[in-house]
Amino acid sequence: MTSQRARDRLAVQLREMGIRSARVLEVIRSTPRHLFVEEALASRAYENTALPIGLGQTISQPYVVALMTEAILADQPLDRVLEIGGGCGYHSAVLSQVAKRVFTVERIAALASNLRERFHALGIHNVRVRHGDGAAGWPRHAPYDAIVVTAAPMGIPTGLLEQLAPGGRLVIPVGERGRQQLLLVTRTATGFAEERLDWVSFVPMLEGVG
Ligand code: SAH
Repeated sequence: MTSQRARDRLAVQLREMGIRSARVLEVIRSTPRHLFVEEALASRAYENTALPIGLGQTISQPYVVALMTEAILADQPLDRVLEIGGGCGYHSAVLSQVAKRVFTVERIAALASNLRERFHALGIHNVRVRHGDGAAGWPRHAPYDAIVVTAAPMGIPTGLLEQLAPGGRLVIPVGERGRQQLLLVTRTATGFAEERLDWVSFVPMLEGVG
């Protein structure tokens, strides 16, 4: 159930659903999602579904992780990527394979400290974790080549736009629970260009820390 075959099957399914990037499919194939969920759910880790990770939060559906990752891949390699909503760390682990450095902000203290332990245990050394409210981004390491938001606000936080490098891409679910649109915002020479990617379902982005 947690075998390479299960991961290969998931990658085939994602390709059938429209994920075209060979790089992204390869990363999905090489990331052990079962190590990011509770043991009782490990047998379901390679189903294309969101799963609970405790404290009312969920690990995103693999298709959505793949779609968001594909959306930020550019011709040149990604140097710095910011993730908002670290959760269980699966998406960060995926990003750590397509970017030189990943910064993730998580508002729930217990999840943030689990993330540090998990990355250490898995030998993932290019992800830095911050416990805080991600609506403000992480200005210290800005600008970012890409920002990936995995909790849905009602509108795009302006602080995140400001932390995008020129040509940088922000992928973010926006809207009420149950009817969110996944947006891709690109910083251009003159402003920002916006594209709608899909309808998605994320947990809400909450204010402050927990
Ligand atoms: N990328 C994660 C998805 C986790 S679900 C994964 O692969 O597991 C979304 C996460 O966003 C939750 O852990 C939630 O606590 C966090 N979150 C919600 N609002 C936030 C905010 N304002 N700042 C930082 N994290 C936030």
